Amino acid sequence: MKKFLGSMMMFIIGLAPVVALAQENPNVFTYKSGAFEVCLLSEGQSAGKPDIFIGATPEMLQKCIPDGTFPNSCNAFLVRMSGKTILVDTGFGRHLFDNLKSLGVTPEQVDIILLTHMHGDHIGGMLKDEQAAFPRAEVYLAKPEHDYWMSGDARNANVRKVIEVYRSKLHLFQPSEIDAKPNTLFPGIQAVASYGHTPGHTSFLIESGKDQLLIWGDLTHAMAIQMTYPQVAMTYDVNPDVAIASRKKVLEYVAKNRIPIAGMHIAFPGMGKVSKASADGYSYSPFTK
Ligand SMILES: [Zn+2]
Repeated sequence: MKKFLGSMMMFIIGLAPVVALAQENPNVFTYKSGAFEVCLLSEGQSAGKPDIFIGATPEMLQKCIPDGTFPNSCNAFLVRMSGKTILVDTGFGRHLFDNLKSLGVTPEQVDIILLTHMHGDHIGGMLKDEQAAFPRAEVYLAKPEHDYWMSGDARNANVRKVIEVYRSKLHLFQPSEIDAKPNTLFPGIQAVASYGHTPGHTSFLIESGKDQLLIWGDLTHAMAIQMTYPQVAMTYDVNPDVAIASRKKVLEYVAKNRIPIAGMHIAFPGMGKVSKASADGYSYSPFTK
């Protein structure tokens, strides 16, 4: 936290107008670390209901969700590093373009889009009038994710339309396990396998020297219960058992290595630190302004 506040201070002194703009927009939160800057772009927040949980006992619910609801949000992230403007997912496309505008970014300026997976709340901003909403962007998608959606089992017209529209700019890659030799997509960005929620679900590790941030996509949907009980899965998970194994492995790694994390369904500001709290459980501390 001290380090984060220090970086924020440097950032405020060095780039005051940008911070002022970000603070005027309640849907944006900016985090700067080393040579990269990551902005949370909120698509909105609501109260989630536990009927989407798999494997939560009444005792777990009583302990973690005593009023029967939990903060349910949807986020995309903007990463600026090495002169590149990078989007990680595109949310529903609801506030995305206004959020980018408030940061001085036009759709034409987005160089790269990294997709964690192809659910509608992550690719909702990809198309505008059935055309590419980001006309210059090179799009990175895990090959297992691409193959799943293009297979007979997961026919979905919207997903296929996005793939078709961006086909000439689509880069398929194979993510690596978080504790294995990294798959570096380009300097400062690694693709990390976190399968289960979907067959090719991917997290992205942003790195600059010793500074890191793991944007983990949908590794969690309800921080309120899945930090204490990572074994709780979601009805949205294509393979709940694989999703649980990925969650446990990534949580253990980021806690041990003190890597800050960001997530697509973590309540505003959507980023923070994870630490080990019990034999199987973790605690999460959100970043603060
Ligand atoms: Zn999802």
